[in-house]
Amino acid sequence: MTTCSDCHRPAVKPVGTRNYCDEHLLALYATFTSPALAHVGYGITDGAYVRCTSCNATWQGVTGDRCWWCQRSYAVMLEHQADLVTQPPDLDPDMADAVINARMAAWADRLWRAVLAGIIDERQAQRALTQQMKKAA
Ligand SMILES: [Zn+2]
Ligand SMILES: [Zn+2]
Repeated sequence: MTTCSDCHRPAVKPVGTRNYCDEHLLALYATFTSPALAHVGYGITDGAYVRCTSCNATWQGVTGDRCWWCQRSYAVMLEHQADLVTQPPDLDPDMADAVINARMAAWADRLWRAVLAGIIDERQAQRALTQQMKKAA
């Protein structure tokens, strides 16, 4: 049987010239994972199935598979977040300018954070802001 190049337990998968056990394969993947995708789990062997490290979904596959359920919920979450964040703040013509300015500034800040987090791109943020500026003018 092939053994892990790091710990000599049974290997589940070769990567390049090395072989990896469950644990070391996941550790290797973790080093490749961008922070934005950190909560998308991987399957690890659990009896006849693999089980997601993040949401516990099970499916028939091999250790190291990206979890479809996590990826799907991540995609849905991103779409939802993008909708939420590009929604302009509630403004009322009766509000004091200072209040309106503060709300707009807070919103611009949220948009910018969403750009940094990769939820929307800069063009989407600019478009949302420009539309709102036109409305306000
Ligand atoms: Zn190992
Ligand atoms: Zn999952």
